[in-house]
Amino acid sequence: MLNFSNSHSGYPCSTRDTNSKKKPFEVILVDADDTLWENYFYFEKARETFLNFMEKREFNREEVNYYLDHFDTKRLEEIGFGSHGFKKAMEFTIEHFYKQKNKGTSETEKDFLEKIKTFIYNQPSIPYPGVKETLEYLKKRYKLILLTKGEEEEQLKKVQRSGLSQYFNACIVLNDKTEKHYKDLIVRLKLNPEKSVMVGNSPKSDINPAVKAGMYGILITKEKQWAYEEEDLIDSEKIIVVNSFKELTNIL
Ligand SMILES: [Mg+2]
Repeated sequence: MLNFSNSHSGYPCSTRDTNSKKKPFEVILVDADDTLWENYFYFEKARETFLNFMEKREFNREEVNYYLDHFDTKRLEEIGFGSHGFKKAMEFTIEHFYKQKNKGTSETEKDFLEKIKTFIYNQPSIPYPGVKETLEYLKKRYKLILLTKGEEEEQLKKVQRSGLSQYFNACIVLNDKTEKHYKDLIVRLKLNPEKSVMVGNSPKSDINPAVKAGMYGILITKEKQWAYEEEDLIDSEKIIVVNSFKELTNIL
């Protein structure tokens, strides 16, 4: 694994001559949430609001948080990603705790959860500093594909709000990003995996499965990460680690 960042990212790194390591890539696949714009923050804000709501009803905050995580991880596999799935996880959590007190849900809970869902759904999707300039640079050199997972309508609305769609040759929304999804994509888009690189913030969804499928991977490290996305990077010379999207111009 190569690391071209100046500062230590928490991952093993080695400093190399970046120019000599430039690869003749043709296609750059780019993750969206928490790579191009902030997403995690809105889920965390929603989580805090939910925990406050439950604490006011005299449920233990830590316990509620534990079960919310439990249902959240479960729903990702069963229901999917995005605001709808998170709302479901909160619903399951409320049911779990209300049952203990023989308490039923009412319009108050329904309205509250709908408001949280809308808050997440309407997040502003403002590109991180330097993203536009970097995409401008990359667009002139490579075919760019935005590759995100979640509910199609919700994800495409974020792309629209971000104003970044003009930089991409295609925007693809998948229900998940596993090795199989990447292998299918390679066939579907007739990609040469040796000339394709996946850029993203998640080892679990962006880097490990893409590299296992034969592509290269560039991880953009993030200080705070969704528990679901945490996973150790696999050991591979095809993985590069940087600290920000802007740093891509140093290596691509
Ligand atoms: Mg991401």
